[in-house]
Amino acid sequence: MLDLGDGRRVSDVLVDQGTKVQHAHFAALPSKLDYSGLDTPFPFVLMIPQWQTEQALADYLRARAVPVHYGAEVTSIVQSLDAVRITVGGRTRQAAYVVGADGAHSTVRHAAGIDFPGSLPTIVNFVADVMVTEPAAQARYFWHREAGLAAVVPLPGGVYRVFGAEAGDTGLTSDQVRRQQAEPLTLKELRAALDRICGTDFGVHDPVWLSRASNSSRYAQRYRDGRILLVGDAAHVHLPAGGQGLNVGLQDAGNLAWKLAAETHRWAPDRLINGPEAYETERRGVAQRLVADTLAQDALMHTFSPSGQALREMFSGFIEQGGEVAEELSGWLSGLGVNYPQPDGTHALAGVKAPDAVLAGDGLLRSLRPDRFLLLDFSPEGAHADLGSARVEVRTAQRHTGPWATVRAALIRPDGHVAHAVDSADPAATAELTDAITAWTLPTVNSPEPDRT
Ligand SMILES: Cc1cc2nc3c(=O)[nH]c(=O)nc-3n(C[C@H](O)[C@H](O)[C@H](O)COP(=O)(O)OP(=O)(O)OC[C@H]3O[C@@H](n4cnc5c(N)ncnc54)[C@H](O)[C@@H]3O)c2cc1C
Repeated sequence: MLDLGDGRRVSDVLVDQGTKVQHAHFAALPSKLDYSGLDTPFPFVLMIPQWQTEQALADYLRARAVPVHYGAEVTSIVQSLDAVRITVGGRTRQAAYVVGADGAHSTVRHAAGIDFPGSLPTIVNFVADVMVTEPAAQARYFWHREAGLAAVVPLPGGVYRVFGAEAGDTGLTSDQVRRQQAEPLTLKELRAALDRICGTDFGVHDPVWLSRASNSSRYAQRYRDGRILLVGDAAHVHLPAGGQGLNVGLQDAGNLAWKLAAETHRWAPDRLINGPEAYETERRGVAQRLVADTLAQDALMHTFSPSGQALREMFSGFIEQGGEVAEELSGWLSGLGVNYPQPDGTHALAGVKAPDAVLAGDGLLRSLRPDRFLLLDFSPEGAHADLGSARVEVRTAQRHTGPWATVRAALIRPDGHVAHAVDSADPAATAELTDAITAWTLPTVNSPEPDRT
């Protein structure tokens, strides 16, 4: 969705730089999820170091002349009804809103007094990016019911991501976890752990970084306190399983950005600020599921016993069979199956993430803009052409397949989710659509005017 202004999207840059992998793992099980059939222009896992993702996003901001200040630490935040005073790098500034994207130990979250409840850590993982003398084109996963779990995954540039846990590093108290995490992981330790679990250390050498992670799983009690909002790891932490943390964090930002812009530009209806489609309502539900998903993977990965082995074999069999279990997991891990709940009585597609191919030609993703909705008109006679406005662009669309086959018009939010859909082009459906457009794109009448300095 992010246009670099030189004919390329951020996604073009990332896809060029990364390595595409058709299969994704769930809990490092032997059977893999096949992404090749996903309804998206990107039906793969993209292996790419996080610094390259960050660089692509920084280039995007630079192209739009958005300043980024590195090394400027936020030390204090105080909000009043109409502003937030924030001390950064020793200077105090005033802002209308503050979005805390400052990671697991978020200063912003603490300053807002937002609780971060969850479960205590019980395991210590080893994680490292290293070179190896035993290269392989595919990811390799090892699970041994007495020794532990290890994975060796190729990244671009000849680097390998190595992660896992020794059986002896599970079932710990949180104090034991904290003590172990405080000790830096050494290459010697990593080699010994790999040897015990895999029977070889793959000749790991020249580490880019070595670290330890835990299964501490938490998400913020609230995502918003007045003019302060949280996104990314500031809002949720979990076992790094299945490549989800950064993706979910970016999707938080994608959900929040257009709503905050609407609030700032004073056209946001109340439903987007405090209602059922508010940022917190939609994304906190995703964090709840993220934590549950990674805890379930934790159990499958780290129960080193005969029952753990039986559970892995059973679950791996479900994935191998394909069908609904594999589809559900692929949809969740890829983010494409993340749909937002909608009130009873609305169309079955409301809240669903619309597939790119629903709009032939450019595709849906490239047609989205943060400051307007798209009204896809599937009726052959273009019955909804005159429903366009400053906030709604009408686009003629060709009939799509599956659950979209009966749809005559769909109102698509700036983040690509369906706001409303109708299966008819008759006057009643047009009136319903007109009401939906009003409800989504105009400030709520008769509700107290929120303070939106
Ligand atoms: C070992 C490991 C492997 C992972 N692998 C994957 C993966 O394969 N795929 C995936 O999607 N996710 C993965 N994750 C998760 C991913 O790294 C995080 O979800 C992601 O980095 C979160 O991004 P963020 O911007 O929210 O927070 P962070 O990346 O933590 O960034 C927070 C930023 O805020 C800055 N900051 C903090 N406090 C202040 C302050 N007071 N003032 C100013 N700045 C401040 C920090 O310096 C930092 O730059 C992994 C995580 C770990 C630990």
